[in-house]
Amino acid sequence: MAIPTERQAKIVDWLHEDNSLTIKVLAERLDVSLMTVHRDLDKLTREGIVRKVHGGVMLAPQAMQTNALENRCQLCRGRVPNRTAFTLTTKAGERADACCPHCGLMLLQQIEEVSSALTVDYLYGRRVNVYRAIFVIDSDVRVCCIPSVLCFAAAEDAIKFQKGFGGKVTDLTQAQQHLLDSHLHMTQN
Ligand SMILES: [Zn+2]
Ligand SMILES: [Zn+2]
Repeated sequence: MAIPTERQAKIVDWLHEDNSLTIKVLAERLDVSLMTVHRDLDKLTREGIVRKVHGGVMLAPQAMQTNALENRCQLCRGRVPNRTAFTLTTKAGERADACCPHCGLMLLQQIEEVSSALTVDYLYGRRVNVYRAIFVIDSDVRVCCIPSVLCFAAAEDAIKFQKGFGGKVTDLTQAQQHLLDSHLHMTQN
């Protein structure tokens, strides 16, 4: 894989599946040198996304992901809370942060050539690939922007959450459509 941001997005994806991976396995899977893997991991370490451990790597705990704390949302300029942070990376390697999946999904529609989109599972605080996530829209839990959009890695968690706190369980496309509709509605009023 030749493009660094694509490799780095892949590494983060795999770490969600396996918790920890060795540098050697990563080099084989990506078909690159150990040096290249180290360079990718150094960049991800600087961004606070991963942590190197003896010969391998794992995802950094949320507390270490300090970048998310200091950044402002590109859409609403609000603070980016750790538990709802949403990060987009473009194919050119540029990074855009949003405060929560509400702003993140809007941003995702505005930015072209996105290579990875990550947010945080609302229950477990783990990073989730936005493209594979399930969303609960407009529940009673309003932690950031309204209508509230919360993200879950597992559909069953989203359904249980929805039973308790209301709202609607959707996939990515439906969530984006819902947001577009509600913003349209606001400007008409
Ligand atoms: Zn925002
Ligand atoms: Zn927000």
